[in-house]
Amino acid sequence: SERQQEFVLRTLEERDIRFVRLWFTDVLGTLKSVSVAPAELEQAFEGGIGFDGSAIEGFARVHEADMVAMPDPNTFQIFPFEGRGIGESARMFCDILTPDGTPSWADPRHVLKRTLSHAAEAGFTFYVHPEIEFFLLQEALTADVDPVPVDDGGYFDHTTHSLARDFRRQAILALERSGISVEFSHHEVAPGQQEIDLRYADALTTSDNLMTFRHIIKEVATSNGVAATFMPKPFTDQPGSGMHSHMSLFEGEDNAFHDPSDEARLSKTAKSFIAGLLKHAPEYTAITNQWANSYKRLYSRHVPGKISEAPAYVSWGRANRSALVRVPVYGKPNSARVEIRSLDSAANPYLAYAVLLGAGLRGIEQGYELPPSSEDDLWSLTDAERNAAGYRPLPANLAEALDEMERSDLIPEVLGEHVFDYFLKNKRAEWEDYRTQVSAYELGRYGNL
Ligand code: GLN
Ligand code: MG
Ligand code: MG
Ligand code: MG
Repeated sequence: SERQQEFVLRTLEERDIRFVRLWFTDVLGTLKSVSVAPAELEQAFEGGIGFDGSAIEGFARVHEADMVAMPDPNTFQIFPFEGRGIGESARMFCDILTPDGTPSWADPRHVLKRTLSHAAEAGFTFYVHPEIEFFLLQEALTADVDPVPVDDGGYFDHTTHSLARDFRRQAILALERSGISVEFSHHEVAPGQQEIDLRYADALTTSDNLMTFRHIIKEVATSNGVAATFMPKPFTDQPGSGMHSHMSLFEGEDNAFHDPSDEARLSKTAKSFIAGLLKHAPEYTAITNQWANSYKRLYSRHVPGKISEAPAYVSWGRANRSALVRVPVYGKPNSARVEIRSLDSAANPYLAYAVLLGAGLRGIEQGYELPPSSEDDLWSLTDAERNAAGYRPLPANLAEALDEMERSDLIPEVLGEHVFDYFLKNKRAEWEDYRTQVSAYELGRYGNL
């Protein structure tokens, strides 16, 4: 990639770009950024940029605080929409190394890369197509600001003069100009709620794209005087924001999930992959749904006329939108795929796709049998009916999810001990903080006792 490095340096010069942002992601999925002048970049390609890992969530224990961010020239991207008279800017994603040059165990990008090479050893490439939901609000949220949606549109509403439609058009242009292909976009069920679906790409590219996506969406929102949030469940009485992801494995040019001779046209590989997703679901939910608030989306209260469509029980189906895993009926053989519906828009994409792939691969390696599909609407059954039919619930809250994760032998293997231990410790503290708060609800309900 010496040539790619040269390309980057030449482009910066030709386009007169003054800043290059070097990006990486902490264990909780927060984007980190350090700007360098183009003149420094040649050296950064050689030895990386040093930083204090102990100041980044989940990165280093104090005695090994020094870390190195090594820019990956293949991820070089110019941001043309940020002109504002100060010239264009550009970014590259970084791999995080320890000072001796070995990959850092704390780097989520490395966790995903390691899982992808595990898949590659078995002959597979892993592709993902995410459907990202989020809210547009009048104002950025704080503890004192109630969420106010920018419109009162609903599912697929066209809303001719609305901000939402102009917003989506601007956002999609900005995304496309930043090298991210958008396939579909529409207004979602809740007021102010939007969905934008990215074209499928390998899981590493998709994860990088998602980090970029969140940044661009927030920028475009801010420039329209509104705020975007990827919080999983901002409104008690509206559905939350999920990030359904369609996943497939390819062997070379061929979709390994497709088998024309099967009645459901699903290969043995696909069936075992789905079985892995189902069997290990309680163990990886802390990663796919990582915030205390995430569980209010999964276990929404029923609002008449508004089906939440977020899964809370382990099952799979074809047309079933209450299932954890859905297998869309597809046309072309290469479109065979499975959709995971629990994942939310505030997950760390690197870690989430790593654990999902890890669960599916475990299913393939150990030849898990796929349980029968279900077309039951799981939300309309009683607990007794669900129990009788053998539907296991997903963890009810973050604490239960952490218990399940801690008991797992798959998740520490995928994340590595360092990220696994850090994540549990950090999230136990979040839960403790959350569960000991006296909330506005309690003051309203119990204040006059
Ligand atoms: N918003 C729903 C969720 O939280 C999904 C709605 C949909 O795309 N069908 O999962
Ligand atoms: Mg969709
Ligand atoms: Mg949707
Ligand atoms: Mg979907």
